[in-house]
Amino acid sequence: MIEVKDLRRTYRGRPGGRRTEALRGVSFDVSAGQRFGIVGESGSGKSTLVRLMAALDKPTSGSISFRGTRIENLPERRLKFLRDDLQVVFQDPMSSLDPRMRVRDIICEPLDRNHDRKERLRELLDAVGLPQEAASRYPHQFSGGQRQRISIARALAPYPKVLVADEPVSALDVSVRAQILNLLADLVDRYDLTLVFVSHDLSVVRHVCDTVAVMRQGEIVELGAVEQVYQDP
Ligand code: ADP
Ligand code: ADP
Repeated sequence: MIEVKDLRRTYRGRPGGRRTEALRGVSFDVSAGQRFGIVGESGSGKSTLVRLMAALDKPTSGSISFRGTRIENLPERRLKFLRDDLQVVFQDPMSSLDPRMRVRDIICEPLDRNHDRKERLRELLDAVGLPQEAASRYPHQFSGGQRQRISIARALAPYPKVLVADEPVSALDVSVRAQILNLLADLVDRYDLTLVFVSHDLSVVRHVCDTVAVMRQGEIVELGAVEQVYQDP
């Protein structure tokens, strides 16, 4: 599904300033149906990797293939297939949801015009456990956990094959984290999704992933079955 080969990303910084090698040659494959975790401390390069996989940034060198197509140097007009097939859920739903838009428009935005939006909206609200009345409200009228449900519904709207979740519960109260994690795991099962789950917390990754890559200072230092990695010292 996704093949990452020798990926490097160096940030130049200001003229004369220090360069940061955020990724120093990262390689891994994510196969269809896999639940692939990426874990590492803050600054290890996780968000950089997410941006590259979602083609929101370009690598300094190396390649990323999505379903057999190299994406790292494609212009935006040729990325439509990726924009539909790979959806990202970010850490902070408040900064990724437009506060001026009603929930129904947020969720349906990724759908094209001829889609039966009403039916799809009903289905999506149901899938993420939000009441139908939520459709006519605005993001600020919801709690953190509910806002993350809205982002998840939006991500699922175009029937993606891959869901990339970047620290999806880190900004939430501890009391709602398990609910959102269980929801993600259920949806991945129900819709046969491939999951890339990014977190600084291995105990969270362990709940939802089968495989995990551990990153440190821009490199993968361990890669394997999640229980194996969890038990390693
Ligand atoms: P993580 O998501 O694991 O916290 P990041 O990918 O955000 O890691 O950051 C990796 C390294 O790259 C860090 O040293 C960070 O300071 C640096 N970095 C990230 N984004 C930028 C940027 N836009 N410009 C300069 N340096 C950056
Ligand atoms: P979180 O999900 O962020 O942990 P809670 O579910 O405890 O938080 O709710 C946080 C705040 O949001 C509470 O003050 C609660 O009353 C309010 N809230 C919860 N659901 C709604 C809603 N549907 N509309 C408006 N406010 C809500």
